[in-house]
Amino acid sequence: MVISRQEDIDVVDRQIRMFSRMRFQWPIFPSALEERFEQDTAERRGKRLWLEGLIAILLFDLFLIADYFSSPADFRRAFVVRMLIITPLCLIVNASVLQRPGKTVRETSIAFAASLAGLTQLYLESNKSAAASAYVQPAVLAVVLFINIVMRLRFPYAVVTSMVMLGGDGIFLHLDKMLTHQEKILGIGLAIGTIAITLVANYSVNREERLNYLLKLRDELMVRDLNRLNAQLLRRSESDALTGLPNRHSFDTQYAELWKRSIASGTALSVIVIDVDHFKKLNDRYGHLYGDEVLRRIGSLLQQALRAKDDFVARFGGEEFVILLPATPQIAAVHVAERVRKMVELAGFPALDASQQPYDSNTVATVSCGIATAYPVPHDAADRLLEAADKAMYKAKANGRNCVCCASEELALSQTELYLSR
Ligand code: GH3
Ligand code: MG
Ligand code: MG
Repeated sequence: MVISRQEDIDVVDRQIRMFSRMRFQWPIFPSALEERFEQDTAERRGKRLWLEGLIAILLFDLFLIADYFSSPADFRRAFVVRMLIITPLCLIVNASVLQRPGKTVRETSIAFAASLAGLTQLYLESNKSAAASAYVQPAVLAVVLFINIVMRLRFPYAVVTSMVMLGGDGIFLHLDKMLTHQEKILGIGLAIGTIAITLVANYSVNREERLNYLLKLRDELMVRDLNRLNAQLLRRSESDALTGLPNRHSFDTQYAELWKRSIASGTALSVIVIDVDHFKKLNDRYGHLYGDEVLRRIGSLLQQALRAKDDFVARFGGEEFVILLPATPQIAAVHVAERVRKMVELAGFPALDASQQPYDSNTVATVSCGIATAYPVPHDAADRLLEAADKAMYKAKANGRNCVCCASEELALSQTELYLSR
């Protein structure tokens, strides 16, 4: 089952409603949910069944004491059957439950071992004495109680095992020569009554177990769904809808973080402010939708222009973008800005479609970039670096646009103005 989807929660909800109704509901889920239920519960169930199986085998062997005192003549046969045949067989079957077999193998193994022990008990006591024939009846009931209530075999398997025990007891009583007819009727009646009661209890326990599982699963699915939605919301609140780049809000967070890191590491932090040239004209000429397309294209080019893992680009607002380059001196930042400028010049202008105005070679997409670099120290105002990069960008505009300028102002790093021609 795919989790964290509303459909999955709906499936679980439907099952909860079905299992909460006061009417018989066959204790099985739709296949995908049943598989998940089995996966989630198999290991714990296997261990529990194994442990209870050991207890059952021990109790079965303790009957040897009763065998010895009640009929010493038959003790040898009882010992061979119990200790040398049935016990090893049951131990092997019981141990196989720990190997995480499938549900069918696991439940059938336990049902088989329990029936075998119960039927063996009937066999050992058959036609030995009136007392033995009488006391083996409660032993049959004990087996049924153990299977249906203690081990809580899955309901269909509990039904089959109970029927096997009832059939075995029926044959035992039919062949028995020690009990009166009335005693036999009482014996089989008691077995039928006990089986009916314990099967009802088994059904209730199975149903409750499934209902509890469903309620827990629904909580888990809802929490996961909520976490997923939260992450989605967070992503949306941090990214710009048009370009998919981080928005101004995430820029602020990232800038503060990189600023702190630069102080701690004593490395340079470079900022590039990028503004699309004559964007208003481009909008006016080709329309806003085309303008949006240009911004999307430039956003994607900017992302491609970044190489280092911690480099960061965001849409600053309108037709302005900003790049943060941690541990990057100004000369390296100039290379990045130049790469950006060239990429936009070459590819920042998507093909026009027929409905748009004819191409005008004076109205293409280019960008002007302003760079500022600082080696931040504590108590420095982070805004100054940004302002310096912004000023440098305006200088690039003044220098004719489609070019890169560095801040002339001295920040922690002294730099002279640098102008790169087109
Ligand atoms: P300059 O070279 O001096 O930067 O000129 P400019 O025209 O680019 O600058 P100006 O600030 O005059 O105009 C910016 C334009 O960008 C105006 C605004 O309509 C447009 N703009 C801002 N955001 C968007 C957007 O999301 N989509 C579109 N299509 N246009 C936008
Ligand atoms: Mg602008
Ligand atoms: Mg502009």
